[in-house]
Amino acid sequence: KINSPLEAYKFLPATNCGECGEQTCMAFAAHLIDRSKDLTECTPILEEKFRKKYEELDALLAPEIREVVIGVGDNVANIGGDDVLYRHKLTFFNQTKFAYDVWDTMDEKDLIERVKYIQDFKKFYVGNFLTVDMVAVRSTSGDPEKFAAVVSKVVETTHLPIILCSFDPEVLKAGLEVSKDRNPLLYAANKDNWKEVADLALEYDVPVTLFAPNDLDLLKSMAKTFAEMGTEKLVLDPGTFPTGKQLRQTFNNFIKVRRAGIEGDREIAYPIMAVPFTAWMAHDDPVSASYWETVVASVFTIKYGDIMILHSTEPYAMLPELHIRDTIYTDPRKPVMVDPGMYEVGEPTADSPVLVTTNFALTYYTVESDISSNKIDCYLWAIDTEGIGVEAAVAGGQLTAAKIKKGIEESGFNLQTDTTHNTIILPGLAARLQGDVEDETGANVMIGPADSGRIPGWMEKNWPP
Ligand code: SF4
Repeated sequence: KINSPLEAYKFLPATNCGECGEQTCMAFAAHLIDRSKDLTECTPILEEKFRKKYEELDALLAPEIREVVIGVGDNVANIGGDDVLYRHKLTFFNQTKFAYDVWDTMDEKDLIERVKYIQDFKKFYVGNFLTVDMVAVRSTSGDPEKFAAVVSKVVETTHLPIILCSFDPEVLKAGLEVSKDRNPLLYAANKDNWKEVADLALEYDVPVTLFAPNDLDLLKSMAKTFAEMGTEKLVLDPGTFPTGKQLRQTFNNFIKVRRAGIEGDREIAYPIMAVPFTAWMAHDDPVSASYWETVVASVFTIKYGDIMILHSTEPYAMLPELHIRDTIYTDPRKPVMVDPGMYEVGEPTADSPVLVTTNFALTYYTVESDISSNKIDCYLWAIDTEGIGVEAAVAGGQLTAAKIKKGIEESGFNLQTDTTHNTIILPGLAARLQGDVEDETGANVMIGPADSGRIPGWMEKNWPP
């Protein structure tokens, strides 16, 4: 396994030709290590004379946990591919994929409605839409024909990748026949059906889940057998027990499997599946079931569920699941930023206030939302603080009077001629910059509230100046 740019560099052509977009091979090697570039971007190494080096380096760069692809073309769900147990040691790649279920005893209208709802669900958060990823089709009838008909309808209705769920190989086969072009994930092989399901996975060349509830030895032995039979497109389900001591056991199982994989046990280094849906079987009323499903989903988003099958599509269940996933899979090496510059909120005129904030996305969108939801027309200046929030940027020198002046000049906006008031409003947490900003810009500087939620009240009292 390669851990440093120097080790990767030894395999590269060392011509510094620049075809990869980097000036030197060493710079490219550094990007290979943090996975911000792919080895195939070095076109010279793809030439025949470097083939051996390419193959060696490609193998050495492969992540500890195998990456498994479900779906085809632009509609794929990549799972696994991690190298670390703790996010701060590098980052987690391939965020947990959420599959919401449909079942083959649904009537057609409800089925289509639910699939469309899953596909179209989205929530705007910090500059991006949070969405869900997959549809899991469960056989509840046990009837292959019925299952095939429903899988067909799902394939027709959505481009999302799918999971085919049954322990009956005949049912899985019927589903595969109508969805084989979509590279679905099979769920699941267990101790009773593994031979038939392995044959299906090999025949149709699709990924497959191995299910061995609370039996890691069996799980590992199945994974080894499947690999020997010729497929490593495997997902491991050690069972998800949603309550009490058993939940703790499940949690321990997930950690054991992932730890072994990261520490080099290739026989078990595959993505892990959690099935928080089991919370539905443990609770009678739908609200408790949704609540516990969300709790279990959150636990295994943190450690180490790469893919999940879920049931509750209530926004109060889906939103926490999406938010916690977004938090865990934000790359700690890269602050979440918006482009610096001057933004118009509403329909500002020359009389409108000019507010300053930073380009840390969470700050920017919080301020923007507090202003726009209160229908305040204004100019909002996102100063380039390298994605750091106001208080830390003032303390660390990323938000200074000179930076504010530079930001204003670069935007082409002229406070003297484009406004009637020549005034800037600084965030309360940047109050100590007031004198310096006045000196640098020649503008009047007002100090707004420390919390953007108080901007509307502050405006009522203080604007116009
Ligand atoms: Fe080096 Fe390959 Fe990049 Fe050329 S394309 S600079 S050989 S890494």
